[in-house]
Amino acid sequence: MNPPLPHRGRFAPSPTGPLHFGSLVAAVASYLDARANGGEWWLRIEDIDVPRTAPGAADGILRTLEGFGFEWDGEVVFQSRRLDLYHAALVRLQLAGLAYPCSCSRREIAASATRRSVDGGLLYPGSCRAGLRDGAAARAWRLRVPDREFVFRDRVQGAARQNLEREVGDFVLLRADGQYAYQLAVVVDDAAQGINSVVRGVDLLDSTARQIWLLQCLGWPAPSYAHLPVAVNRAGEKLSKQTRAPAVDPSRGVGLLVRALRFLGQPVPGEAERMALPDFWRWAVGAWRISRVPTARAILFRG
Ligand code: GLU
Repeated sequence: MNPPLPHRGRFAPSPTGPLHFGSLVAAVASYLDARANGGEWWLRIEDIDVPRTAPGAADGILRTLEGFGFEWDGEVVFQSRRLDLYHAALVRLQLAGLAYPCSCSRREIAASATRRSVDGGLLYPGSCRAGLRDGAAARAWRLRVPDREFVFRDRVQGAARQNLEREVGDFVLLRADGQYAYQLAVVVDDAAQGINSVVRGVDLLDSTARQIWLLQCLGWPAPSYAHLPVAVNRAGEKLSKQTRAPAVDPSRGVGLLVRALRFLGQPVPGEAERMALPDFWRWAVGAWRISRVPTARAILFRG
Protein backbone atom coordinates (compact mmCIF):
# COMPACT_ATOMS: atom_id res chain seq x y z
CA MET A 1 0.00 0.00 0.00
CA ASN A 2 1.20 3.55 -0.74
CA PRO A 3 1.89 5.73 2.30
CA PRO A 4 -0.83 8.37 2.86
CA LEU A 5 -0.19 11.58 0.93
CA PRO A 6 0.85 14.58 3.00
CA HIS A 7 -2.10 16.82 3.81
CA ARG A 8 -2.14 19.80 1.44
CA GLY A 9 -4.63 22.59 1.99
CA ARG A 10 -5.11 25.98 0.40
CA PHE A 11 -6.72 29.38 0.73
CA ALA A 12 -8.06 30.78 -2.53
CA PRO A 13 -9.39 34.34 -2.14
CA SER A 14 -10.93 36.26 -5.05
CA PRO A 15 -9.24 39.70 -5.06
CA THR A 16 -12.42 41.74 -5.35
CA GLY A 17 -11.47 43.97 -2.43
CA PRO A 18 -9.56 43.95 0.86
CA LEU A 19 -9.55 40.91 3.15
CA HIS A 20 -12.58 41.07 5.46
CA PHE A 21 -13.52 39.07 8.55
CA GLY A 22 -15.35 36.40 6.50
CA SER A 23 -12.27 35.63 4.41
CA LEU A 24 -10.04 35.78 7.49
CA VAL A 25 -12.16 32.99 9.00
CA ALA A 26 -11.60 30.80 5.91
CA ALA A 27 -7.87 31.59 5.96
CA VAL A 28 -7.54 30.75 9.68
CA ALA A 29 -9.50 27.49 9.43
CA SER A 30 -7.71 26.20 6.31
CA TYR A 31 -4.31 27.20 7.75
CA LEU A 32 -4.79 25.62 11.17
CA ASP A 33 -6.32 22.51 9.68
CA ALA A 34 -3.32 22.06 7.37
CA ARG A 35 -0.71 22.74 10.05
CA ALA A 36 -2.48 20.68 12.71
CA ASN A 37 -2.32 17.75 10.27
CA GLY A 38 1.40 18.36 9.64
CA GLY A 39 0.52 19.53 6.13
CA GLU A 40 1.20 22.28 3.66
CA TRP A 41 -0.88 25.39 3.02
CA TRP A 42 -0.88 27.02 -0.41
CA LEU A 43 -2.19 30.38 -1.48
CA ARG A 44 -4.01 30.93 -4.73
CA ILE A 45 -5.30 34.28 -5.93
CA GLU A 46 -8.50 33.61 -7.88
CA ASP A 47 -8.26 36.58 -10.23
CA ILE A 48 -9.80 34.78 -13.19
CA ASP A 49 -12.95 36.88 -13.20
CA VAL A 50 -11.35 40.01 -14.64
CA PRO A 51 -14.35 42.36 -14.35
CA ARG A 52 -14.67 41.52 -10.61
CA THR A 53 -10.95 41.82 -9.84
CA ALA A 54 -10.00 45.07 -8.11
CA PRO A 55 -6.59 46.57 -9.00
CA GLY A 56 -4.15 46.19 -6.11
CA ALA A 57 -6.48 43.91 -4.11
CA ALA A 58 -4.28 40.81 -4.48
CA ASP A 59 -1.24 42.67 -3.09
CA GLY A 60 -3.33 44.01 -0.24
CA ILE A 61 -4.57 40.51 0.65
CA LEU A 62 -1.04 39.07 0.62
CA ARG A 63 0.30 41.89 2.81
CA THR A 64 -2.59 41.48 5.23
CA LEU A 65 -2.02 37.72 5.52
CA GLU A 66 1.68 38.36 6.11
CA GLY A 67 0.81 40.94 8.76
CA PHE A 68 -1.28 38.34 10.60
CA GLY A 69 1.71 35.98 10.55
CA PHE A 70 0.40 33.35 8.08
CA GLU A 71 3.25 31.40 6.47
CA TRP A 72 2.44 29.73 3.16
CA ASP A 73 4.23 27.02 1.23
CA GLY A 74 5.56 27.47 -2.28
CA GLU A 75 4.93 30.37 -4.62
CA VAL A 76 1.61 32.18 -4.63
CA VAL A 77 -0.41 31.00 -7.65
CA PHE A 78 -2.39 33.49 -9.77
CA GLN A 79 -5.21 32.08 -11.87
CA SER A 80 -4.83 34.84 -14.45
CA ARG A 81 -1.46 33.27 -15.39
CA ARG A 82 -2.81 29.74 -15.85
CA LEU A 83 -5.23 30.11 -18.76
CA ASP A 84 -3.33 27.43 -20.75
CA LEU A 85 -4.15 24.83 -18.11
CA TYR A 86 -7.87 25.69 -18.17
CA HIS A 87 -7.84 25.60 -21.96
CA ALA A 88 -6.21 22.15 -21.99
CA ALA A 89 -8.81 20.78 -19.57
CA LEU A 90 -11.67 22.24 -21.63
CA VAL A 91 -10.26 20.67 -24.81
CA ARG A 92 -10.14 17.26 -23.09
CA LEU A 93 -13.79 17.61 -22.08
CA GLN A 94 -14.74 18.75 -25.59
CA LEU A 95 -12.94 15.80 -27.21
CA ALA A 96 -14.65 13.40 -24.81
CA GLY A 97 -18.04 14.85 -25.81
CA LEU A 98 -18.68 15.90 -22.21
CA ALA A 99 -18.55 19.63 -22.94
CA TYR A 100 -20.82 21.05 -25.63
CA PRO A 101 -21.33 24.48 -27.20
CA CYS A 102 -24.39 26.50 -26.24
CA SER A 103 -25.84 29.39 -28.22
CA CYS A 104 -28.52 30.41 -25.72
CA SER A 105 -28.76 34.02 -24.59
CA ARG A 106 -30.04 34.90 -21.13
CA ARG A 107 -33.33 35.88 -22.72
CA GLU A 108 -33.68 32.50 -24.47
CA ILE A 109 -32.92 30.66 -21.24
CA ALA A 110 -35.48 32.80 -19.40
CA ALA A 111 -38.06 31.93 -22.05
CA SER A 112 -37.43 28.16 -21.94
CA ALA A 113 -36.47 27.42 -18.31
CA THR A 114 -39.13 25.85 -16.13
CA ARG A 115 -37.21 25.40 -12.89
CA ARG A 116 -34.81 27.20 -10.59
CA SER A 117 -31.32 25.95 -9.78
CA VAL A 118 -29.85 25.70 -6.26
CA ASP A 119 -28.06 29.00 -7.00
CA GLY A 120 -31.45 30.72 -7.18
CA GLY A 121 -31.09 31.43 -10.91
CA LEU A 122 -32.88 29.62 -13.72
CA LEU A 123 -31.98 26.01 -14.33
CA TYR A 124 -30.65 25.67 -17.87
CA PRO A 125 -33.04 23.24 -19.57
CA GLY A 126 -30.41 21.65 -21.84
CA SER A 127 -31.64 23.31 -25.07
CA CYS A 128 -28.28 22.82 -26.90
CA ARG A 129 -27.49 19.38 -25.49
CA ALA A 130 -28.30 17.58 -28.72
CA GLY A 131 -26.42 20.14 -30.86
CA LEU A 132 -26.66 23.77 -31.92
CA ARG A 133 -29.67 24.88 -33.96
CA ASP A 134 -28.86 25.45 -37.64
CA GLY A 135 -27.02 28.71 -38.09
CA ALA A 136 -26.64 29.30 -34.32
CA ALA A 137 -23.19 30.30 -33.06
CA ALA A 138 -21.60 28.94 -29.87
CA ARG A 139 -21.58 31.53 -27.09
CA ALA A 140 -20.52 29.39 -24.14
CA TRP A 141 -19.40 25.83 -23.41
CA ARG A 142 -21.31 23.73 -20.91
CA LEU A 143 -20.64 20.44 -19.15
CA ARG A 144 -23.18 17.63 -19.45
CA VAL A 145 -24.30 16.52 -15.98
CA PRO A 146 -25.77 13.15 -15.04
CA ASP A 147 -29.18 12.49 -13.51
CA ARG A 148 -27.83 10.90 -10.37
CA GLU A 149 -27.26 11.78 -6.78
CA PHE A 150 -23.74 12.83 -5.73
CA VAL A 151 -23.22 11.91 -2.10
CA PHE A 152 -20.20 13.05 -0.12
CA ARG A 153 -19.21 13.47 3.49
CA ASP A 154 -18.30 16.99 4.46
CA ARG A 155 -15.95 17.18 7.45
CA VAL A 156 -18.08 19.92 9.05
CA GLN A 157 -21.54 19.66 7.50
CA GLY A 158 -21.74 15.86 7.50
CA ALA A 159 -23.53 13.97 4.73
CA ALA A 160 -24.33 16.10 1.71
CA ARG A 161 -26.09 15.15 -1.50
CA GLN A 162 -27.12 16.76 -4.75
CA ASN A 163 -28.60 15.64 -8.06
CA LEU A 164 -26.83 17.74 -10.66
CA GLU A 165 -29.37 17.38 -13.42
CA ARG A 166 -32.34 18.23 -11.22
CA GLU A 167 -30.75 20.88 -9.02
CA VAL A 168 -28.05 22.53 -11.13
CA GLY A 169 -28.32 21.68 -14.84
CA ASP A 170 -25.54 21.56 -17.42
CA PHE A 171 -23.23 24.29 -16.19
CA VAL A 172 -20.92 26.74 -17.92
CA LEU A 173 -17.16 26.06 -18.27
CA LEU A 174 -16.32 28.83 -20.72
CA ARG A 175 -18.51 31.92 -20.51
CA ALA A 176 -19.95 33.88 -23.42
CA ASP A 177 -17.47 36.70 -22.60
CA GLY A 178 -14.55 34.29 -23.19
CA GLN A 179 -13.70 33.79 -19.50
CA TYR A 180 -13.22 30.41 -17.90
CA ALA A 181 -15.75 29.74 -15.18
CA TYR A 182 -14.75 29.44 -11.51
CA GLN A 183 -15.91 25.79 -11.43
CA LEU A 184 -13.42 24.76 -14.11
CA ALA A 185 -10.50 26.85 -12.85
CA VAL A 186 -10.84 25.73 -9.22
CA VAL A 187 -10.87 22.05 -10.16
CA VAL A 188 -7.90 22.33 -12.53
CA ASP A 189 -5.89 24.25 -9.93
CA ASP A 190 -6.73 22.03 -6.98
CA ALA A 191 -5.71 18.97 -9.02
CA ALA A 192 -2.57 20.56 -10.53
CA GLN A 193 -1.43 21.77 -7.10
CA GLY A 194 -2.09 18.39 -5.49
CA ILE A 195 -4.59 19.90 -3.02
CA ASN A 196 -6.23 17.06 -1.09
CA SER A 197 -8.10 19.10 1.53
CA VAL A 198 -10.47 21.97 0.79
CA VAL A 199 -11.65 24.11 3.72
CA ARG A 200 -13.89 27.07 2.69
CA GLY A 201 -17.19 28.86 3.29
CA VAL A 202 -20.47 26.96 3.21
CA ASP A 203 -21.69 29.20 0.38
CA LEU A 204 -19.60 26.89 -1.83
CA LEU A 205 -21.18 23.66 -0.56
CA ASP A 206 -23.64 23.77 -3.47
CA SER A 207 -20.70 23.95 -5.91
CA THR A 208 -19.06 20.83 -4.53
CA ALA A 209 -21.01 18.19 -6.49
CA ARG A 210 -20.22 20.14 -9.68
CA GLN A 211 -16.54 20.05 -8.78
CA ILE A 212 -16.59 16.34 -7.90
CA TRP A 213 -18.27 15.58 -11.24
CA LEU A 214 -15.71 17.69 -13.15
CA LEU A 215 -12.89 15.87 -11.36
CA GLN A 216 -14.43 12.52 -12.32
CA CYS A 217 -14.75 13.64 -15.96
CA LEU A 218 -11.06 14.60 -15.97
CA GLY A 219 -9.97 11.42 -14.15
CA TRP A 220 -8.58 13.24 -11.12
CA PRO A 221 -9.08 12.35 -7.42
CA ALA A 222 -11.38 14.50 -5.31
CA PRO A 223 -10.03 16.26 -2.19
CA SER A 224 -11.81 16.06 1.17
CA TYR A 225 -14.15 18.99 1.86
CA ALA A 226 -14.96 21.02 4.97
CA HIS A 227 -17.49 23.85 4.67
CA LEU A 228 -17.46 26.52 7.37
CA PRO A 229 -20.23 28.84 8.54
CA VAL A 230 -20.11 32.20 6.78
CA ALA A 231 -20.05 35.52 8.60
CA VAL A 232 -23.12 37.65 7.99
CA ASN A 233 -23.97 41.25 8.92
CA ARG A 234 -27.07 42.37 10.82
CA ALA A 235 -29.08 42.33 7.59
CA GLY A 236 -28.19 38.64 7.21
CA GLU A 237 -25.95 39.35 4.20
CA LYS A 238 -22.65 37.52 3.72
CA LEU A 239 -19.71 39.82 4.40
CA SER A 240 -18.26 40.85 1.05
CA LYS A 241 -17.20 43.86 -0.93
CA GLN A 242 -20.81 44.31 -2.12
CA THR A 243 -22.06 44.46 1.47
CA ARG A 244 -19.25 46.90 2.36
CA ALA A 245 -17.53 44.59 4.85
CA PRO A 246 -14.68 46.50 6.50
CA ALA A 247 -11.07 45.44 5.85
CA VAL A 248 -9.34 43.52 8.64
CA ASP A 249 -6.32 45.26 10.13
CA PRO A 250 -3.37 43.12 11.27
CA SER A 251 -1.98 45.95 13.39
CA ARG A 252 -4.65 44.99 15.94
CA GLY A 253 -2.48 41.97 16.75
CA VAL A 254 -4.07 38.68 17.68
CA GLY A 255 -7.43 40.26 18.59
CA LEU A 256 -9.14 39.48 15.29
CA LEU A 257 -7.54 36.03 15.06
CA VAL A 258 -9.04 35.26 18.47
CA ARG A 259 -12.44 36.43 17.20
CA ALA A 260 -12.04 34.23 14.12
CA LEU A 261 -11.23 31.22 16.32
CA ARG A 262 -14.22 31.85 18.59
CA PHE A 263 -16.40 32.23 15.48
CA LEU A 264 -15.14 28.77 14.51
CA GLY A 265 -16.22 27.33 17.87
CA GLN A 266 -12.71 27.01 19.29
CA PRO A 267 -12.32 27.94 22.99
CA VAL A 268 -9.61 30.58 23.48
CA PRO A 269 -8.16 31.08 26.97
CA GLY A 270 -7.53 34.65 28.10
CA GLU A 271 -3.76 34.16 28.04
CA ALA A 272 -3.81 33.38 24.29
CA GLU A 273 -5.23 36.86 23.70
CA ARG A 274 -2.08 38.38 25.14
CA MET A 275 0.38 36.28 23.17
CA ALA A 276 2.70 37.57 20.46
CA LEU A 277 1.80 36.29 16.96
CA PRO A 278 4.33 33.40 16.72
CA ASP A 279 3.34 32.06 20.16
CA PHE A 280 -0.33 32.48 19.33
CA TRP A 281 0.00 30.43 16.12
CA ARG A 282 1.97 27.69 17.89
CA TRP A 283 -0.75 27.48 20.53
CA ALA A 284 -3.59 27.63 17.94
CA VAL A 285 -2.14 24.80 15.79
CA GLY A 286 -2.05 22.55 18.86
CA ALA A 287 -5.54 23.56 20.01
CA TRP A 288 -7.37 23.29 16.63
CA ARG A 289 -10.26 20.80 16.52
CA ILE A 290 -12.33 20.84 13.35
CA SER A 291 -15.00 18.82 15.18
CA ARG A 292 -15.82 21.97 17.19
CA VAL A 293 -16.71 24.08 14.14
CA PRO A 294 -20.47 24.80 14.24
CA THR A 295 -22.60 23.36 11.44
CA ALA A 296 -24.65 26.57 11.26
CA ARG A 297 -24.61 28.04 7.77
CA ALA A 298 -24.45 31.65 8.91
CA ILE A 299 -23.22 33.35 12.07
CA LEU A 300 -23.65 37.03 12.87
CA PHE A 301 -20.47 39.11 12.93
CA ARG A 302 -21.04 42.18 15.10
CA GLY A 303 -18.60 44.49 13.29
N1 GLU B 1 -12.35 32.27 -4.66
C1 GLU B 1 -13.45 31.81 -3.89
C2 GLU B 1 -13.94 32.89 -2.96
O1 GLU B 1 -13.19 33.82 -2.64
C3 GLU B 1 -13.10 30.61 -3.04
C4 GLU B 1 -12.99 29.39 -3.88
C5 GLU B 1 -12.76 28.10 -3.13
O2 GLU B 1 -12.30 28.12 -1.98
O3 GLU B 1 -13.03 27.07 -3.74
O4 GLU B 1 -15.08 32.86 -2.54
